[in-house]
Amino acid sequence: MSDETAATTKGLPFRVVVLSGPSGSGKTTIVERLLGDERLPLRKSVSATTRPPRVGEMDGDNYYFLTAEEFERRRRQGEFVECAEVHGAGYWYGTLKSEVERAREEGRWAFLEIDVDGALEVMREHPEALTFFVTASSQEEYERRLRARGTESDEHIRRRLETARRELARAGHYRHRIVNDDLDRAVREITDILSRELER
Ligand code: 5GP
Repeated sequence: MSDETAATTKGLPFRVVVLSGPSGSGKTTIVERLLGDERLPLRKSVSATTRPPRVGEMDGDNYYFLTAEEFERRRRQGEFVECAEVHGAGYWYGTLKSEVERAREEGRWAFLEIDVDGALEVMREHPEALTFFVTASSQEEYERRLRARGTESDEHIRRRLETARRELARAGHYRHRIVNDDLDRAVREITDILSRELER
């Protein structure tokens, strides 16, 4: 029996939900809205990363912040569903199997906000996963939003834009592509798809 057909403790079929999109696509706000919607049985998977915490980020809340050695140890022990080096900045990110299992145990759906490399790995392991790729209205709009954040250096921005171009090219692997030119509409589109899945 595959992961997806086993029922959760609440009788729902278990689902893995994956959302990706370039930074600046507005996905963070979408994710907050989705996780805040009590009608949806989503449980956020807290990723592990080797990147240092940003101001205000909490270990175990935003991420599990691990040293490169600890990350590698866990990777070798097979503790990750997927992991990837994101942005070519030398930092690793990964979804812990324990996070997916915790969602299932709680009777909820594991919600993964991860990059495209990771998402493709998850799709191989969980072919029934509900996958969403979010884009801003255009590459120009995306660049504007990224710069407006003002938290990153030019070099960092350049690398992120490069990653975004590569990610966009692979958006076709996702079941659903969501254009975030109107936040409410984008959230509603995803919510509707998830709600239909709940009723199945
Ligand atoms: P940030 O460093 O800005 O928090 O995240 C950078 C990127 O890492 C985001 O695009 C996010 O989707 C990706 N990411 C976060 N967690 C994971 C994970 O567990 N696995 C993978 N593959 N990517 C992740």
